[in-house]
Amino acid sequence: MAEFSIIDTYFNRKAFSSVDLGVGDDSALLSPPPQQQLVICADTLVAGRHFPLDTDPHAIGWKSVAVNLSDIAAMGAKPHSILLALSLPQIDHDWLKGFSQGLYDCCDQFGVSLIGGDTTQSPHLTISVTALGWVDTGKGVLRSGAQVGDYICVSGQVGDAAFGLNHRDHPLKKRLDYPTPRCALGQSLKDLANSMIDVSDGLAQDLGHILKASNVGAQVELNQLPIDIALKELAQEQRWKYALSGGDDYELCFTISPANHTKLLQQQLDINISTIGQITENKELCFVQNGKTKMLKFNGYQHFA
Ligand code: ADP
Ligand code: MG
Repeated sequence: MAEFSIIDTYFNRKAFSSVDLGVGDDSALLSPPPQQQLVICADTLVAGRHFPLDTDPHAIGWKSVAVNLSDIAAMGAKPHSILLALSLPQIDHDWLKGFSQGLYDCCDQFGVSLIGGDTTQSPHLTISVTALGWVDTGKGVLRSGAQVGDYICVSGQVGDAAFGLNHRDHPLKKRLDYPTPRCALGQSLKDLANSMIDVSDGLAQDLGHILKASNVGAQVELNQLPIDIALKELAQEQRWKYALSGGDDYELCFTISPANHTKLLQQQLDINISTIGQITENKELCFVQNGKTKMLKFNGYQHFA
């Protein structure tokens, strides 16, 4: 019984009108819009691994949705709904209240409905969210589309969340706890970008995924990396480490032809875009500073390293 009362109390708010049938039956029902492809992804957050154990439950709820909407955005798609698989060690009503509020706050901000899920007891707090969205058929922006000569761009700032993790009293901690999925930007890039990824494991590693999938290389100008003033005060080595291998920023990194780059910068966007380099033919990721090559070897976060 406890399971059903948890669902009814915390996870059964009315869905947006684009949902035919939400929480309550064996499955949810949706009507895909014509000429659209379903875009679908899942991400799991494990307590103690993906967030510190003392994280505010509201922030955990927000983040568990945000990281998935970020993956949807990185395809150039519009988010529509989520499913929530929740494994709880015990029933803690204060925690559930904060968590569900954070989850719905993020859903509401981006017009997304919670349409179903699963609730189980387990020794570890684990939150797995599946997100669904739509994109015009054939318009999804893949990692594999980068072209030699493309500009490489990144939204917002990188390194903030990793800095916040190590400086828990600093305002940048908010960037760790409440990442903003770049949903509007992602959708406006579907007709412009050649390739795209969201930066979850550090810019160097995530840009590396684009390079590998596209069979190209890149030259990145370190001085163009968009970093917070707090990082600018650090020694160079430390600064680039945060900016290039710090995870959890959930910004979008994309490559775009020079012609579309001009078009993009003419648009009114809700987020700053930095142009950090160019796609090259040689298959390496190389960093330069003031025209000089810098040897840096940064890896992003690896789960089984
Ligand atoms: P079943 O036994 O048929 O799998 P459940 O009893 O697990 O169904 O779930 C009942 C309903 O509640 C379903 O519609 C399911 O999608 C939904 N649900 C279960 N857990 C959650 C949750 N944590 N968040 C949202 N919906 C949930
Ligand atoms: Mg059933």
